[in-house]
Amino acid sequence: MKLKARAKINLTLDVLHKRSDNYHEIEMIMQLVDLYDSLEIREGEGIEIVCSHPFVPTDEGNLVYKAAKSLQKYTGTKKGAKITIEKRIPVAAGLGGGSSDCATTLMGLNKFWKLNLSLEELAKLGKELGADVPFFIKGGTQLAKGIGEDLTLLPSLPPVWVVLAKPNLGVSTKEVYLGLEIDKITKRPNTQAMISAITEGNIKEVSNNLCNVLETVTLRRYSTVKILKDRITQLGACGTLMSGSGPTVFGLCSTYERALKIAKSLGTLAEEVFVTKTTDWSEINETN
Ligand code: ATP
Repeated sequence: MKLKARAKINLTLDVLHKRSDNYHEIEMIMQLVDLYDSLEIREGEGIEIVCSHPFVPTDEGNLVYKAAKSLQKYTGTKKGAKITIEKRIPVAAGLGGGSSDCATTLMGLNKFWKLNLSLEELAKLGKELGADVPFFIKGGTQLAKGIGEDLTLLPSLPPVWVVLAKPNLGVSTKEVYLGLEIDKITKRPNTQAMISAITEGNIKEVSNNLCNVLETVTLRRYSTVKILKDRITQLGACGTLMSGSGPTVFGLCSTYERALKIAKSLGTLAEEVFVTKTTDWSEINETN
């Protein structure tokens, strides 16, 4: 069984306050995009993970391994699997690649092992493995609250071209949250305005309302990310934003030609560049 595990971008990201359990209460709008990792599930003894990416573990640290183990534990199945991950989504980049692989494994093994769990049950298991995992089970365009697990489906965004550009640096999500001074945030997303723009399918207004409070930390610490963002804007993207805790920056474009031109003009500012599209595909996707 071959599956696509797609990446996400944040159209908004707001951090409201720090909770008594030390997690941050957030409010964000996440959007699935068509850049994906390929997962292949085959029969196997126990759980075996194969991945050649240097920064992705193949032991119990891999979220795909955790997903498989959690399904075995929940259902009591004794079946095994060999899962091969072909990474395309940049790692530790703010695009949710690990969470997406995890969610796709839950959905894939549910079919492969004929477990018949509902998407709700899978989302519940996923939430224990990572706050963003339920998003990737539901997909599309979602408003996420709480620590990211409390989801409301929004109308689908009309397909829009997206340039994704990752500079040559790694950013730790934990460090970014630690560096955030919530009381000093001056520019916050207008989540309601973004929801209205999405509902109207108004890409210009979506672009105008892009906002991520974590930029205050990452752009201040890493000037490359700011330079990259400014460059994508200069080159004519309708809107530009850092995704998640970064360092990936994306630009929304109304045409493929514009997106490609931007992608080709970034030179050494970006280590990895992709031209992709927003998608509302939320079903399990077999690429066979
Ligand atoms: P988020 O936006 O959710 O913070 P991210 O896109 O910034 O996530 P990931 O690519 O999910 O970050 O990777 C974060 C870490 O998780 C990596 O450093 C990696 O070692 C670990 N990891 C575990 N499983 C995977 C996986 N299947 N794919 C990628 N990274 C994984």
